[in-house]
Amino acid sequence: MRIVITGGAGFVGSHLVDRYLAAGDDVVVVDNLITGSRRNLAHAADAPRLTVVEHDVSRPLSIDGPVDAIAHLASPASPIDFLRLPIQILKVNSLGTYHMLGMARAKGARFLLASTSEIYGDPEVHPQTEDYHGNVDTLGPRGAYDEAKRFAEAITMAYHRMHGVDVRIVRIFNTYGPRMRLDDGRVVPNFVSQSLRGEPLTAFGDGEQTRSFCYVDDLVDGIVRLMASDVVGPVNIGNPLELSIVEFARRINALTGNPAGIALQPLPAERTGDPSRRCPDIARATSLLGWQPRVSLDDGLARTVAWFRDELQRAGA
Ligand code: NAD
Ligand code: UDP
Repeated sequence: MRIVITGGAGFVGSHLVDRYLAAGDDVVVVDNLITGSRRNLAHAADAPRLTVVEHDVSRPLSIDGPVDAIAHLASPASPIDFLRLPIQILKVNSLGTYHMLGMARAKGARFLLASTSEIYGDPEVHPQTEDYHGNVDTLGPRGAYDEAKRFAEAITMAYHRMHGVDVRIVRIFNTYGPRMRLDDGRVVPNFVSQSLRGEPLTAFGDGEQTRSFCYVDDLVDGIVRLMASDVVGPVNIGNPLELSIVEFARRINALTGNPAGIALQPLPAERTGDPSRRCPDIARATSLLGWQPRVSLDDGLARTVAWFRDELQRAGA
């Protein structure tokens, strides 16, 4: 098949590109490189089945020839980006999603939206099931991202209902692995690079807030299964192993042998509204897609630490 992947030069997108290229598909990446990098695709630069188009999907675009599927991943995704790039985030998830749905309609292509656990805000239901409607602060620092993604889901369903576009919605929970940006501010790049430098790990607040971390290969497997299925969704994809941030920090320090420990720091102002608990209910993914995560936290972290070790060396940091 021929698949368009928006955001294909980003962390998750580039792994999805690898998976479809390995399956023998033709891949067209559309990315404006605002948070992504050509380096994430450098290993595939000579692949005859890969085309990279540098373009902001918040602006109209056309792609020549047939398109069978669109995976719409374009969007900054780190809480640091929520503050730095709120208007770009609102535009890419509204106008960008609108343009890509228009392409799906015109080409008769299947359309998959990369949505997020942020749809649930600071959840009052635990673990989060897909039918929970969420607890979102529209005005807080995370509001632009959360509401942008909620709009993206709504317009995706509107195109499905009004125009019969064949759609899929995946709600992605915290995912980690190689090709995360060193400076993207998310907890995995921060903790792993601090740990490799022998510095204390900066856990925010009391460090008792929880997250559930999914290795990127498992996420990609879930996305590919959802795309190939007849399930509209939404479907949560995430690893239900829930850990406090302090416990997560301990696991990383144990892996790298960092003796510097953990330094609790007040929650930064830009982190106001930090969800206190997050864990996916994956019953739907398991029963409808036969999906479950396979990579253990220690395996995934070991692969991630190895990758960041090389990155730090390359960056001379
Ligand atoms: P990322 O920042 O590494 O990748 C996003 C990619 O989209 C980048 O390559 C960026 O340049 C591109 N992009 C952004 N705006 C664009 C625009 N207007 N036009 C074209 N390209 C644009 O982030 P990621 O972690 O790989 O996230 C990918 C997707 O998955 C996002 O939609 C994100 O919301 C979603 N998601 C990710 C996670 C996670 O834990 N990584 C969790 C929930 C949801
Ligand atoms: N966090 C932390 N120290 C850091 C970065 C993040 O304690 O240096 C915490 C953050 O407050 C949040 C969790 O780690 O509770 C996950 O943050 P991340 O930015 O990775 O993703 P989020 O789930 O908040 O979108």
